Amino acid sequence: MLKDFAISIIRTLRDRGHQAYLVGGCVRDLVLGREPADYDITTDATPDEVMGIFPETYAVGAQFGVVLVPAPGDAASCVSTEATDHSKTNAVEVATFRSDVGYSDGRHPDQVRYSKDPREDVKRRDFTINGLLLDPIKNEVLDFVGGRADLEAGIVRTIGDAERRFAEDKLRMLRAVRFAARFDYQIEPKTFAAIPRMAAQIHQVSRERVRDELTRMLTEGHARRAFLLLDKSGLLKEILPEITAMKGVEQPPQFHPEGDVFVHTLLLLDKLRHPCPLTLAWGALLHDVGKPPTFRVAPDRIRFDGHVEVGVKMAQEILRRLRFSNDDTEQVLALVANHMRFADVQRMKESTFKKFVRMSEFAEHLELHRIDCQASHGDLTSYQFTRQKMASIPPETMRPIPLITGDDLIAAGYKPGPRFKEILSAVEDAQLEGQLQTRDQAMGFVREQFPAGQ
Ligand code: ATP
Ligand code: MG
Repeated sequence: MLKDFAISIIRTLRDRGHQAYLVGGCVRDLVLGREPADYDITTDATPDEVMGIFPETYAVGAQFGVVLVPAPGDAASCVSTEATDHSKTNAVEVATFRSDVGYSDGRHPDQVRYSKDPREDVKRRDFTINGLLLDPIKNEVLDFVGGRADLEAGIVRTIGDAERRFAEDKLRMLRAVRFAARFDYQIEPKTFAAIPRMAAQIHQVSRERVRDELTRMLTEGHARRAFLLLDKSGLLKEILPEITAMKGVEQPPQFHPEGDVFVHTLLLLDKLRHPCPLTLAWGALLHDVGKPPTFRVAPDRIRFDGHVEVGVKMAQEILRRLRFSNDDTEQVLALVANHMRFADVQRMKESTFKKFVRMSEFAEHLELHRIDCQASHGDLTSYQFTRQKMASIPPETMRPIPLITGDDLIAAGYKPGPRFKEILSAVEDAQLEGQLQTRDQAMGFVREQFPAGQ
């Protein structure tokens, strides 16, 4: 177990005459009786000393005093790991007691100063609930910041003056929201009041860090509350004004009895199962992003003509801005682009249906549709239909081996060109419809539908 390994590291450091404690999120989680995602150790040993004591280490952030010690048998998986995210690897982060000095850019300390005093190390941390130390050998919590009381009362409070601490690293504003959402805590009034005053400075933080915080909020299981807090604190309009724009955008009550586009989107976030793929979470957040600019009161009812196409463009811009990978972007855009197609599933031709459900990660499309219904009219007819129909289709007819290829067309006297794609796709459709079973049938179909020489 990773916890035992972390404790063994602490014993070793102490045997060599050093101070060493568990610190930060893992202590908070242990006090709360939760399973920590990772274990962090803080010690007065310098990175060089730590690397000297443990034969296998990775100096992932040695300039900040951080060394990664892989659990036995898990060395290989750490090599490519970045200092900022090793939560999925079996490694323990060992950091030297330090105080951070400077922060002139609003996101990184200018300098780190090593220390022999654990008090200094907890003072540089963000929130009181994240500033506890645990001596796992005596099983004793050391609290220099009032973290225990705040954990008991359910309060997120900066260590020291909120404005000063947020000024040092603007990302802490997002972390405050994330922890408050995750634990259903209140943000202490002075801490909260500092956020609207400083929200506009969030742009000093790299977009990747903002993206990763938002992704955590979206996928940790408390996304609705996180987004309500983002909105209330003024951060949402800074980082995702397209979501703020959903507020007050009315919808036709017969399809959306729940309320406006913002209410609907947040209800949807509430229905995300935990854990959930980040692409599904972002797809849920952005599926109706095209509604505010396409809102129109038509004679019969409110309409959002073209909201899908507009939404795809807007989502693309948002994902580009937040530096998403091409693969993630592609999947999120596919979710936005296809979310309305479920309304047609019962009328789809066999071939259209098969190609629809063959889309990559279709389970995410289906899940988005389910929560979209649940967060509005509640009618799951198309969802159930899709599932039943998928189950009834023999897998080998879902993506059958093509009956003919371009070579067959060439052999039959067809000239290679753009028309090949059209012909082969028509053959595939007819095959998916169950109209063609053999190569000969396919060639007969081609000669009839696409006479050579035309
Ligand atoms: P999680 O459960 O999400 O991992 P965590 O509290 O462990 O939450 P980490 O990002 O893993 O958060 O960081 C570990 C610890 O490092 C925190 O508990 C906190 O003490 C400190 N810390 C992390 N980020 C910051 C920051 N931006 N400013 C100050 N201290 C920070
Ligand atoms: Mg952590």
